[in-house]
Amino acid sequence: MRFSKLRLTGFKSFVDPTDLVIADGLTGVVGPNGCGKSNLLEALRWVMGENRPTAMRGGGMEDVIFAGAATRPARNFAEVSIQIDNSDRLAPAGFNDQDQLDIVRRITRDVGSAYKVNGKDVRARDVQMLFADASTGAHSPALVRQGQISELINAKPKNRRRILEEAAGISGLYQRRHEAELKLKSTEANLLRVDDVIEQLA
Ligand code: ATP
Repeated sequence: MRFSKLRLTGFKSFVDPTDLVIADGLTGVVGPNGCGKSNLLEALRWVMGENRPTAMRGGGMEDVIFAGAATRPARNFAEVSIQIDNSDRLAPAGFNDQDQLDIVRRITRDVGSAYKVNGKDVRARDVQMLFADASTGAHSPALVRQGQISELINAKPKNRRRILEEAAGISGLYQRRHEAELKLKSTEANLLRVDDVIEQLA
């Protein structure tokens, strides 16, 4: 599973559709201050399901939409798509039936985000799990933003462990365990309610 192309439309400073072809090997992005290097990295996190506005350097999720410039009006939506080469068939189960995966996230003002994988509507959670199981994802240690190295050095052991778990590809299992625990709790509450009803009827 390998990223092969990133496309941004109306995302932050990338108002017109912009393709970034990701070739084999190491990819470096260079350019003058303010040209949009960090915005590219944020687009990558965002399409993988990042939902914290702070991670997008914004106050709200809609801040990723092109806000307008002296000569261009603001846009009403932002869209990022990522193309994944899955010819090695290493995508997680449920997404592994095609050689290429096209994952699209679009946010529309006052509507919110919608996700698609190969043209089919999916939930944010599905996309987050796809990348968590592939040991990449919005919080992946493979994406290093400015200041993150010193944060890592100063991190508490618990936080450092979370980074190692993400690298080992087990963070998806934690999410599933959390969801299973919530279901268990609500089932226990339902059972108590059933007991009450039975008691009243007896
Ligand atoms: P540096 O090297 O200084 O960190 P950079 O190349 O990483 O810079 P970015 O921080 O990615 O640059 O891009 C900053 C630019 O993106 C700024 O010009 C800012 O105005 C623009 N920008 C950010 N959000 C939006 C938005 N919602 N709409 C329009 N432009 C935006």
